[in-house]
Amino acid sequence: MSDVHEVIIIGGGPAGLTAAIYAARANLAPVIIEGYAAGGQLMITTDVENYPGFPDGVQGPELMEMFRSQAERFGAQILTVDVTRVDLSQRPFGVWMGDQEYRAKSIIISTGASARWLGLESETRLRGYGVSSCATCDGFFFRDRDVVVVGGGDTAMEEALFLARIASHVTVVHRRDEFRASRIMVERVLAHPKITVRWNAEVDSITGDSAVEGVVVRDTTSGALDTIPTAAVFVAIGHFPNTDLFVGQVDLDPAGYIITNGTRTNIDGVFACGDVQDTVYRQAITAAGSGCAAAIDAERWVEAQSHSAAAQHA
Ligand code: NDP
Repeated sequence: MSDVHEVIIIGGGPAGLTAAIYAARANLAPVIIEGYAAGGQLMITTDVENYPGFPDGVQGPELMEMFRSQAERFGAQILTVDVTRVDLSQRPFGVWMGDQEYRAKSIIISTGASARWLGLESETRLRGYGVSSCATCDGFFFRDRDVVVVGGGDTAMEEALFLARIASHVTVVHRRDEFRASRIMVERVLAHPKITVRWNAEVDSITGDSAVEGVVVRDTTSGALDTIPTAAVFVAIGHFPNTDLFVGQVDLDPAGYIITNGTRTNIDGVFACGDVQDTVYRQAITAAGSGCAAAIDAERWVEAQSHSAAAQHA
């Protein structure tokens, strides 16, 4: 069997990297497996204006690079590979990256969440050619063009308001007759002269051969189809937690998020932090805060285990 590490952190966004900083400074010599999607959702963000300590804003990838070098400075070992399998049924816990096996006394899960897609063939085909899930990344390409945003939550409102500064016109397509977004965001969208809303409309398909040309929407009340001409479709219909690895190993809620009490999961010694267990706040700063809490909880747990092992041998 390979060496047993004190803690392995799976996932390298704000939560995982903060956990790594704290665990490293607590002398736990953490291994953080950041995966190929290293940095998480902030890597597809440009300006981050609400992260405290950066009064002039900071670029998402730059912020993640700072988190990363801070973790490395205190000796965290960072692996840029994907975990392919875990075994949380016995201790020390097992983590595999292909054939490579790692063992740890404690695990911190911080695999985050990913943007949800509509699941249409045309959407997949035109992704990167006008179909996007990130207005701040791709909005710039559609200066003075008409664009569409799909969704009715805060993300969709934010995307629409952001795009209204760049595009000539924004149409928000929503499947119901009211938004679920917060009132202030809804008010801003409805009052904006460059934004219109198509209520009760579902996306049937996206047209265009090599670039988006339009969105075919179906009216949910009449069933009628019609096409909205557009140069881009920004899909903003929420996120799903990255928990495929943990199905059947740790308790998940019906939407697939890890169920936590603080940062504790139902398995002793396994902790979770960040968007993988947060259905409410989903902010970089709250992810980082919970990463800090997970590292402190893991440290105390490892410490308590070593005391009880020592007591048994006394
Ligand atoms: P939400 O889950 O809040 O909203 C998703 C939206 O997409 C809903 O309006 C939903 O419709 C719609 N939708 C879902 N699936 C489909 C589908 N298959 N086809 C068409 N429409 C679909 O996700 P968000 O990403 O908007 O927000 C997530 C969380 O992050 C929220 O808690 C939000 O408040 C928070 N947030 C906060 C921000 C801020 O405060 N600045 C900014 C962004 C997010 P329906 O309403 O019919 O279910």
